Amino acid sequence: MTSQADLVALDQSDPLAPKREEFSIPEGLIYLDGNSLGALPKAVAQHLERVVEEQWGRDLITSWNKHGWIDLSARVGGKIARLIGADPDEVIAADSTSINLFKVLLAALKLRPERRVIVSDIDNFPTDLYIAQGVNQLLGQSHELRLVKKEQVEAALDEHTAVLMLTEVDYRSGWRYDMAALTRLAQAKGALVIWDLAHSAGAFPVRLNACNADFAVGCGYKYLNGGPGAPAFLFVARRHQGAALPFLTGWMGHRAPFDFDPYYAPAEGVHRMKVGTPPVLSLSALDKALDVFADVDMNEVRRKSLRLTDLFIERMEPLCRRYGFELITPLEHERRGSQVAYAHPEGYAIMQALIASGVIGDFRAPNILRFGFTPLYVRYRDVAEAVERLEQVMSQELWKAERFRERAKVT
Ligand SMILES: *Cc1c(COP(=O)(O)O)cnc(C)c1O
Repeated sequence: MTSQADLVALDQSDPLAPKREEFSIPEGLIYLDGNSLGALPKAVAQHLERVVEEQWGRDLITSWNKHGWIDLSARVGGKIARLIGADPDEVIAADSTSINLFKVLLAALKLRPERRVIVSDIDNFPTDLYIAQGVNQLLGQSHELRLVKKEQVEAALDEHTAVLMLTEVDYRSGWRYDMAALTRLAQAKGALVIWDLAHSAGAFPVRLNACNADFAVGCGYKYLNGGPGAPAFLFVARRHQGAALPFLTGWMGHRAPFDFDPYYAPAEGVHRMKVGTPPVLSLSALDKALDVFADVDMNEVRRKSLRLTDLFIERMEPLCRRYGFELITPLEHERRGSQVAYAHPEGYAIMQALIASGVIGDFRAPNILRFGFTPLYVRYRDVAEAVERLEQVMSQELWKAERFRERAKVT
């Protein structure tokens, strides 16, 4: 058992401790939901004020050239590339994860025209599965969407598989796939692989190219701290950039948008995956937010993440026995992302009561309490304090209050 003195020592010797100062976190609040919406980097607020007043307000439309708005998508993509083991010219920041998945899934399927099966995880985040269903509808239901449990993914792959589409870290349980092994297995069958990095990018080092990934998408507002509704990102491995075509053929993905040619011609490389005018304010926020990572060693982030989640699991053990929380996150480090989740039949009300006590996690239907650990701003002492507050919520039965049962629109 880690003592209070150990916790203080861990925080004091934590090489990432100074990073917390770069974030704006309300006094007294323990924020364990950076896996859903990352905290605000202080520099973003100041930067946005300047972008609004000086770029938009003063320089107006000349800012497209003067302040490089037109290249923002690629510039931000380049910063993300370092975090996900890609080259800068393989990544753009654009649109939402859902839309990016639509683009790369359709592109990948068209690279495997003779194959008719898309394999995915039935516990994948619903939008990923919905997008695959929509794409298949667009293609006249020509494909089979083969949805299987995690243990069955390998067996589901065969010579008919066009695309294996997986989210590296399960949004509920925090279960993490072996990206290198699954990519190899799928490619050995001749399939292409799309990785969703929503719960990976910024959470631990990702090595897309070392794993020989084909395509990837991911989220800007979770561990990358880009702000609510931040643009997402998209990766196309260089070897596919010539052949992979966009089917959302907007002018920003045209070879020469300002030629105003009536006929579409794809831009070079990953740039063809851009569609319309980029959201400059949101992209500027994400751009600045990524600077927090500039001097961060992602291996250090991973080390701390595992220590934080190990500590949380250890401290939660007595509550599991006493109150019936069931750990659904793998104990094995290799199989764990940066979050810890428990099943409990009263999960919703318990989480609302915990939030009221100043510890923010979230709830995922049907019965999951989810806690995200973002090593850049969560301290070891926060972990211990969060469990103490949960103990109070349970021992004093605070969660039984009527107001904690009412379901809000967003859980
Ligand atoms: C958060 C998340 C998304 C979000 O998609 P949006 O288009 O940004 O709403 C998609 N996929 C996964 C796996 C996620 O965790």
